[in-house]
Amino acid sequence: MNTYLDTRGLISNSPTFTDVIVKGIAPGGGLYVPCHIPHFTIDGIVAFAEKPYAQRAAAIYRAFEVDLGDEDVDAIMAGSYAENFDDPAIAPIRHIAEGMHVMELWHGPTSAFKDMALQCLPRCFSAAVEKQASQTGMVKDYLVLVATSGDTGKAALAGFADRAHTRIAVFYPDGGVSEIQRKQMLTQRGENVQVFAARGNFDDCQTSIKQAFNDEAFNTRLADDEGLLLSSANSINWGRLMPQVVYYVSAYAEMVASGAVASGDPIDVCVPTGNFGNILGAYYARAVGTPIGRLICASNENRVLTDFIDTGTYDIVDRPFVLTPSPSMDILVSSNVERQLFELTGRDGERIRSWMKALHDDRRFQIDSETFGKLQGLFSADSVSNAECLETIREVHDEYGYLIDPHTAVAWRVAERQKSDNPVLIVSTAHWAKFGADVYRALHGIAPGQALPDGISQLSGAQLNERVAHDTDSSIPLGLAEVDRLPLRFSGVVDGDVASVESAITEWLSSSR
Ligand SMILES: *Cc1c(COP(=O)(O)O)cnc(C)c1O
Repeated sequence: MNTYLDTRGLISNSPTFTDVIVKGIAPGGGLYVPCHIPHFTIDGIVAFAEKPYAQRAAAIYRAFEVDLGDEDVDAIMAGSYAENFDDPAIAPIRHIAEGMHVMELWHGPTSAFKDMALQCLPRCFSAAVEKQASQTGMVKDYLVLVATSGDTGKAALAGFADRAHTRIAVFYPDGGVSEIQRKQMLTQRGENVQVFAARGNFDDCQTSIKQAFNDEAFNTRLADDEGLLLSSANSINWGRLMPQVVYYVSAYAEMVASGAVASGDPIDVCVPTGNFGNILGAYYARAVGTPIGRLICASNENRVLTDFIDTGTYDIVDRPFVLTPSPSMDILVSSNVERQLFELTGRDGERIRSWMKALHDDRRFQIDSETFGKLQGLFSADSVSNAECLETIREVHDEYGYLIDPHTAVAWRVAERQKSDNPVLIVSTAHWAKFGADVYRALHGIAPGQALPDGISQLSGAQLNERVAHDTDSSIPLGLAEVDRLPLRFSGVVDGDVASVESAITEWLSSSR
């Protein structure tokens, strides 16, 4: 059985998979990483093409020696990757242009790539709670707290809705998410879910949630009054990274099967990156034996990662936070870089600790030249301006009749610029209809941030999507098309400070008892 280390070298116990997904973050602030990374032969990887996606996932989880029974793993994957996705391939790959292949990760229930992990993690979570209960004779239930800038909130709600032993509360910045994203969250079904708008920006919201996690009195009150422990479903949870290893291994198998690459030859991957979770999945896929050449990190105008990969210095001193058409990549502190550096330093917790301390204290750190050499040996990076992003949507549509969302457009443009002799797998992370207003701007040559014309600006997000779909002969996933027809279940707006957040949670729990 595999056990886990933490990136800061602070823990002395040896937690298992089920332990770390329930805990989320390690004591001391480090991130969990499996001690043992399995290895697949090239034939083993190519043979995955003959199996359905759910069985590929189960095989990979088993190779990582998760501490769940084989039958449990099979059942979890069969439930995670099934009719809840609107394409039987789950993560289909489209050949769009010479050497350019797009992996569509948005066929899940909420139309963003977060579903790839958040359909699976909650099922693992319930199984982990049951396992703990059978070992200790005591059932603990969990309250999953989420701060969201848009995509994560809905994907987490959809994943945890009516899931055994869990409740979930999501806080989003009032006025800080798109109308479609807000309606997606407020129409969520399920008896164990709750959504609040919090006054303030996303950072305020996230800070209050972190403070609530660290508030001992609040934790004690939840445990005593409600029998609930706090947990988190954000992308530092190892349970969100594992599913992201699966689709890269799976993609390679499919590309060999379709003749896009010869077995054993490398592909490059180009990933629109924010918190570094998705591209880290590609790193681990490479580590288990998938022939991946370069890992290409695509950024929007928030280009902290591009600069880091180019210079070896992670620097957010005086770096402004820019609003872009790809909000899920608007980020300054990219959490999963910590895991990447842990691996590149040969798992040196002490070095990671000193860099993370410098980031916290000085808002910058510089890696040593050996680690920088390794980083450059694996990664390329580039960034795309807001205007280029929208131009790319239009160009790709005009040239190939293929409509992409602003996050995918960032990756497309970077992939074009960085193209080598290897076929490139461009990762598409959202359906265009999640970001219909900017797609409309792109198709009509309206600059980013500029107002939509009269007659268009009055439309709801769903109506605007219908207009775009009609003009481009595209379709809209049911989950996005139906938001105007479903009842809005939640209307709570609270102040963004931690006391208000905590009392909103307490009131909800006591009123639903
Ligand atoms: C979350 C998200 C990203 C960024 O992924 P990371 O794993 O945080 O790098 C990119 N695009 C979309 C649409 C997302 O929802």
